[in-house]
Amino acid sequence: MNPVEFIEKKKRGDEHSPEELKDFVLGYVKGEIPDYQMSAWLMAVNFQGMTDRETLALVEVMVNSGEVVDLSHIEGIKVDKHSTGGVGDKVSLILAPLAASCGCIVPMISGRGLGHTGGTLDKLESIPGMRVNLSREEFVSQVERIGVAMIGQTEEIVPADRKMYALRDVTATVRSIPLICASILSKKIAEGIDALVLDVKTGSGAFLQEYEQSRKLAQKLKSVGEEFGLRVKAVITDMNQPLGNKAGNWLEVEESIEVLKGKGPGDLAGVTVYLTAWMLVLAGIASDLKAGEELASRNLKNGKAFEKFLELVEAQGGDVRYIENPEKYRKAPIVKPVKSMVSGYITEIDTELLGLAAVGLGAGRKKITDRILPEVGFVVLKKISEYVKEGEELCIVHAKDERTFEQARGNILKAYKITQYKTSPPPLFYETF
Ligand code: URA
Repeated sequence: MNPVEFIEKKKRGDEHSPEELKDFVLGYVKGEIPDYQMSAWLMAVNFQGMTDRETLALVEVMVNSGEVVDLSHIEGIKVDKHSTGGVGDKVSLILAPLAASCGCIVPMISGRGLGHTGGTLDKLESIPGMRVNLSREEFVSQVERIGVAMIGQTEEIVPADRKMYALRDVTATVRSIPLICASILSKKIAEGIDALVLDVKTGSGAFLQEYEQSRKLAQKLKSVGEEFGLRVKAVITDMNQPLGNKAGNWLEVEESIEVLKGKGPGDLAGVTVYLTAWMLVLAGIASDLKAGEELASRNLKNGKAFEKFLELVEAQGGDVRYIENPEKYRKAPIVKPVKSMVSGYITEIDTELLGLAAVGLGAGRKKITDRILPEVGFVVLKKISEYVKEGEELCIVHAKDERTFEQARGNILKAYKITQYKTSPPPLFYETF
């Protein structure tokens, strides 16, 4: 296969055969195809899309770029959740231990920050000592022992997604239904699960902001997942404003701890409980959604989910003293408010711009080699439909220096649309398929 002809073919909008897709992707994993050719092809896919046959073939080749984990010897339904990405979306940190505390087996493979959105792995790694690069044996034995493990793509498991994901993050090639589909489903199929809940975000902070596009993505994820034998629920949830109040890696761990202790923001707890409840239904632990919600809410209140989180962090080498006493974590050098310049109601928030503000502070990457600053980010104090007075605080920014604080301040002020008209807050959920 000639890689230049292969890229040309997609550029023209022609269909690839499964064999040539396999050669190209596996060639990339082996280092025979360089980043620049993969980037060019990803960009062509962004513009031209992929047929269903190509999407299925891409999922298959990505899954088989490494090993598929065999968890069949562990009793019980293996079930996971994945989100298409958002700002302040820390649901996985709460949901994985919560679902495990309710009896689910949760072998979770997640990703790093992608574009303007945060990533579960970067958030977990903000916990001192926490390892997300367990070997396959360590992963399996931890799932056996405590019912939950949270890791990233490795050299052994979905190496194709590991490399392509990192490249898409910095080449503006995330917003493509077939690429998102292949990235998410390859990770999930490779972890050896039986059932999957998909949280498809829609709105100004989602990769696919238009509702119809999010709906298409949800339907595609569900149908392709089912082709591979998974039981799938896809839920479209809101991303017109950050989920919860905190964005930034450690700040999000901090807020997750609050929810795991039965407190924290209602929107974050609500979405987490809803998605966990579907996992419980798919796993046969709850008879219906209501029973699932009751069990999940109970385990947030009675401390079982928090205990499971401590167990998880300890098992992966994390320093649980910071989970028990989050106030001990180092603070960013600059912690300052951004104040509103006008009075009025918050009618819209450009959530992508808020996400980019977090990346600019150092919470995400602009280049593959960028190092994440775990302590930076912001706390949102005002959300859609709330009234703000001139001079009142909109957000508290945690920054490494004045320059990045000022940049974030500019973006935050631009992101908030404040008018004289009161609007209702957006719903948390739209449709469940
Ligand atoms: N999450 C993923 O794992 N991959 C994507 O492409 C988008 C969100």
